[in-house]
Amino acid sequence: MDDCLFCKIIKGEIPSTKVYEDELCYAFNDIAPTAPVHFLVIPKEHITSAAEITPENSAVVAHIFEVIAKLSGDMGMTEGFRVVSNCGDCAGQTVKHLHFHVLSGREFTWPAG
Ligand code: AMP
Ligand code: ZN
Repeated sequence: MDDCLFCKIIKGEIPSTKVYEDELCYAFNDIAPTAPVHFLVIPKEHITSAAEITPENSAVVAHIFEVIAKLSGDMGMTEGFRVVSNCGDCAGQTVKHLHFHVLSGREFTWPAG
């Protein structure tokens, strides 16, 4: 996707602070963090949102959650963390490339705003 911000980040055309990378996914710090730890994990394949997950592309989602579990240990997020994927305009999705926010380092309220 030539005009996708996160595809450009994966290609290195837009700078980012890398947290983790493998053949399937890329993780980088959010440019406007809302918690002491706030990074995004994205599939390298362009998937528009959680609404576009199918039997053909869902394996990367399981992989991303394995990566998040490993990073939570490596980064010492022992007090807990939150994983969020906003899908669609009403949910506040501003970048139309599937991404998982990983937030930690403070307490979070529920229900979501
Ligand atoms: P959402 O609003 O759920 O679509 O999340 C998009 C996230 O991308 C927001 O938290 C933004 O702060 C973050 N973001 C936007 N541009 C960049 C960028 N260039 N580098 C890192 N994070 C970004
Ligand atoms: Zn993309």
